Amino acid sequence: MTNNQFTIHNSQFTIPSSLSLYLHIPFCAYRCSYCDFNTYTSVGELKGAYAEALCAEIRQVAGHTKRPAHTIFFGGGTPSLMTAEHIATILDTVRSHFALADTAEITMEANPETVDVAYLAAVRSAGVNRLSFGAQSAVESELALLGRQHSFASVVRAVQMAREAGFDNFNIDLIYGVPGQTLASWQESLTAALALHTHHLSLYCLTIEPGTPLQRSVTQGHIALPDPDLAADQYELARDMLAEAGMEHYEISNWALPGRASEHNLTYWRNGQYLGLGAGAHGHANGYRYHVVRQPRVYIRRLMENSAVPEHYPLSTAVAGQTELTPTDQMGETMMTGLRLLQEGVSTADFARQFGRSLEEVYGRDIAELTEWGLLAEEDGRLRLTSRGIFVSNQVFQRFV
Ligand code: SF4
Repeated sequence: MTNNQFTIHNSQFTIPSSLSLYLHIPFCAYRCSYCDFNTYTSVGELKGAYAEALCAEIRQVAGHTKRPAHTIFFGGGTPSLMTAEHIATILDTVRSHFALADTAEITMEANPETVDVAYLAAVRSAGVNRLSFGAQSAVESELALLGRQHSFASVVRAVQMAREAGFDNFNIDLIYGVPGQTLASWQESLTAALALHTHHLSLYCLTIEPGTPLQRSVTQGHIALPDPDLAADQYELARDMLAEAGMEHYEISNWALPGRASEHNLTYWRNGQYLGLGAGAHGHANGYRYHVVRQPRVYIRRLMENSAVPEHYPLSTAVAGQTELTPTDQMGETMMTGLRLLQEGVSTADFARQFGRSLEEVYGRDIAELTEWGLLAEEDGRLRLTSRGIFVSNQVFQRFV
């Protein structure tokens, strides 16, 4: 993105700033048993007003400066519940207020049962060029336990329809560490996803979140907690199978065919700048981390009542809280996010250039210790997690915050 990059200067940092935009769509048709995302099943009638509010927030945050942007991600929730007209209007608003690169990656999350060819063709012509399907498992009993109301057959159909509609870039999400899941059933899901010739796979280990139906089932003893050793074996199996299939393991939980890494998510892992727009979205730009108010009705009201350009970019009138990052915060976050990238890691030269201090000077003792334990390795000017380090990555990251 060298042709459209510029820098923002705040009091402490010089930060590269071709932006990524995350747009949150907080609507779902039903609630999955494990989900604690900011999403709602009973306010579907708000979709039109929500699309308008999202456009208002885009205009508000952009102000009078057409900043360059290179990725957009519609996340949720279930973005594919919005009409294609809503998606087109939102993207047109982004194009009018940001200098969106011609080659911008524009991703939309989609639940397989919500799409058909006409819909996918319409969002494709609106500009969406990458789809992310929440498949989660190819095993029907696991889908039922997760509270998913689709079959794997509908994922297969959705992928076929996406191809018919002209998409040639998509991701599939799968979940491992599911109660009752075995190594063999996990292998079945991986094999089924690979058979779809997906360009990208995101594999998440199930976490039992407080307040979810799944947690209640575990607490009441109806479901046994998944075995962490089995989850580690499942992860190992995935690494082997996906390497065999020619997919690059580029981030702890993400694999891609060469050249198909998610540009949007790379912004997060490179600790770059992204705007979080929409109810409950999180953002990081201009030295702030911030989050937007969660309730869709409150979100709509805040944007419709006040359209003034914010005093502090990028904090819209819907922002519910923000933190101004110190250099120590920024350095720690750069380590935590950068080490997730298994090949790229953290560049010693880039770190020194960005912060005016060397990695050695700031974290020398921790890095030496973690290297001695075989969890980190430095090679070719890049610090990376080792294969062993991947399995205890959270403990490694804690050393930098
Ligand atoms: S579809 Fe996604 S966001 Fe919606 S309830 Fe299920 S897991 Fe949560």
